[in-house]
Amino acid sequence: MIPSVLPTYNRAPLNFVKGEGSWLFEADGRRFLDLGSGIAVNVLGHAHPKLTEALTEQAQKLWHVSNLYEIPQQQALADALVAHSFADTVFFTNSGTEACELAVKMARKYWYDKGQQDRTEIITFSGAFHGRSTAAIAAAGSEKMIKGFGPVLGGFTHLDWGDHDALKAAVSEKTAAVMIEPVQGEGGIRTLPDQCLQGLRALCDETGALLILDEVQCGVGRTGKLFAHEWAGITPDIMMVAKGIGGGFPLGAVLASEEAASGMTAGTHGSTYGGNPLGCAVGRAVMDIVAEEGFLADVRRRAGQLRQSLDGLVAAHPDVFEELRGAGLMLGLKCKPANTELVQACYDSGVITVPAADNVIRLLPPLNITEEDIAEAMKRIETAALTVAQKD
Ligand SMILES: *Cc1c(COP(=O)(O)O)cnc(C)c1O
Repeated sequence: MIPSVLPTYNRAPLNFVKGEGSWLFEADGRRFLDLGSGIAVNVLGHAHPKLTEALTEQAQKLWHVSNLYEIPQQQALADALVAHSFADTVFFTNSGTEACELAVKMARKYWYDKGQQDRTEIITFSGAFHGRSTAAIAAAGSEKMIKGFGPVLGGFTHLDWGDHDALKAAVSEKTAAVMIEPVQGEGGIRTLPDQCLQGLRALCDETGALLILDEVQCGVGRTGKLFAHEWAGITPDIMMVAKGIGGGFPLGAVLASEEAASGMTAGTHGSTYGGNPLGCAVGRAVMDIVAEEGFLADVRRRAGQLRQSLDGLVAAHPDVFEELRGAGLMLGLKCKPANTELVQACYDSGVITVPAADNVIRLLPPLNITEEDIAEAMKRIETAALTVAQKD
C-alpha cells in the first residue's frame, strides 16, 4: 500500500523535534551537530532569536494579502537585495525551482522583445541542478531527472562542465543565455574557478548572451561573500536565489539588471504566495544580519578554520577521503568508500552531512556556527571516518 506521504524520498530514520543554533535534537534528547542546514537553508542555524522575532511579530499582524496589493515587507526586502547586489529589480518566489522558471522566461522574453523571437537557446552544464519542474529538469538534462517524464522542454543545450572549447563554440548570436552555478551543489561541490567565470562573462558580452547565475545553494553568504560571483569580480544579468534567503522560511527570488528584466512587464509573470508579508519579513531579518561585512568576515574566518581541520582529516585518512573541495562554508569531501556509508557513520557519531553526486559528502553548516561547534563536529567526523576505515 502506498504510504500517505508520496514515497519520493529515501528518508533516514531520524526524527528531529527541536533545533537550537547548530544543533538538532531528537525526542529522546540525542543531539546532532547540523552540518547540513536543511541543505544550505538554515544560514543562521535553528531558532535564531532575530528570525523568530521577525516571524512572530509579522504573524501577529498580517500573513498574506496577494500581489494584487502593495506589500511593504516585499518592497523593503527588494530594496535591501538591490542595495547589496548588481541587481536593479527583484521578483520573489517560494523556491529555487520557481526562480529557475522565471530566469528562463525572462531571458527568452528579453530576446523576443528585441525582435529576435528565435533566440531561445539556453546553455547549461553537466552535473547542474536547477530544480524539479519540467523546465528545471530540462535545463539540467540528466537522464536520471528526465527519464519517464515525457517530452523534454526544448531549447536547452548541455555542455560538459569545464569544457572550454565546447563553450566557446556553443555560445553564439543564437544563445539567449548561459545558465550556471558558480559552485555546483547537488553536482558534488564543484567550484567554477574565478577565471572561468570571468571568461564566461566576456564570452557573453561578446555575443550578447545573458548570463544567468544559479546561486540558489551558493548564495546568501555561503561562500564568504554575499553572492559567490563576487569573488570573480563579475556580475550576472540574472541571478536565482532561494535556500538561505529565507533562513528556513520557503522563499526564493530572481534578481536582474534593468536591461535583462525589460521584457517582464505587468501581467507577464506572477505568483500567489511569492513575496508575501510573512516570508519577506523573515527574509529581511536574514539580510539584515548576513549582508553585514562583519558577519561575512566571520564566515570567512570560520571557513578557514573548518577547511584547515578538514585538510588535516583528508591527509590523516587517505583510505577514506580523496579530496576536499568547495568554497567558504560550502565544502565537499570526495570519499573513497560509498559516500552514503560516510553519511551513515556521521549520523551514528552525531553529525549531519548531506550526500551529493560524484561520491561527495557536503558540509553546509549554519554560517554562524561557533568555533567550538566546528571543533566538536570535526571530532565526530573523525570518529565516523575511523569507523568506515575499520569496516573496509
Ligand atoms: C536546491 C536548488 C534548486 C532548487 O531549489 P528548490 O527550492 O528545491 O526548488 C535550484 N538550483 C540549485 C543550485 C539548488 O541547489
